[in-house]
Amino acid sequence: MTQTVLSLSNVTKRFGGLIAVNAMDFDVAEHEVLGLLGPNGSGKSTTLNLISGALPLSGGHVSLWGNRISGLPAQTITRKGVSRTFQLVRLLPSMNVRDNVVAGAVFGHRRRWGREAIDHADMLLEKVGLGGKGDMPIGQLTYIDTKRVELARTLASDPKVLLLDEWLAGLNPTELQIGISLIRSLRDEGRTVILVEHVMDAIRSLCDRCVVMAAGAKIAQGTPTEVLSDREVIRAYLGD
Ligand code: ADP
Ligand code: MG
Repeated sequence: MTQTVLSLSNVTKRFGGLIAVNAMDFDVAEHEVLGLLGPNGSGKSTTLNLISGALPLSGGHVSLWGNRISGLPAQTITRKGVSRTFQLVRLLPSMNVRDNVVAGAVFGHRRRWGREAIDHADMLLEKVGLGGKGDMPIGQLTYIDTKRVELARTLASDPKVLLLDEWLAGLNPTELQIGISLIRSLRDEGRTVILVEHVMDAIRSLCDRCVVMAAGAKIAQGTPTEVLSDREVIRAYLGD
């Protein structure tokens, strides 16, 4: 039996007259990588913001292990085990690499302090390919390395559910393969992942299942092969 970890029910978000997310329903099972796809502006980042508590819902609810989390402060949701990366990397430029990762543990699912937090940060930096770069200022990092720091910072809170917002965007083919293996290793260590992604190679090789959005609503769901050959999905991506 696969357990449902995260469940969205009738989740809706209005910005004034715009319905950015319209009655979204989907479940994510334990250890699953769920792809959240759709053209630009279809509501993917907003959906992640509603799950993580960055934005209040206009309607519906989100549950984690069957308990409602929508309406709780974002920090509480992080503490319960849901953590995310941002589409545009957000790091603290005045701090070095290691301290940015340590900062991610503050509202963690499992909190660490002092030496333990630092050792854990160094272990995560090693894992994302930044071993030995802990003392570097953020400003001296390449683009891929800022993305790596962001992932390490997100992992510092020990999330059970990881929300990745176009984390693979902008990587070259070699970096992409590394990024894909990294995400796979996160799933293999027991995390559940929601992957907002446009990179088809990544979707095909990582996602167990996909949900496709267009104009705020779910238009398809299924395996990557199923949704990527769906006429309505192709039409949504190509535009009419
Ligand atoms: P995606 O991530 O799929 O590209 P978004 O979730 O970022 O799409 O945006 C969905 C829609 O909601 C877009 O029309 C966008 O302009 C709008 N939107 C997103 N955030 C806000 C906001 N804070 N205020 C007003 N409109 C927003
Ligand atoms: Mg987005």
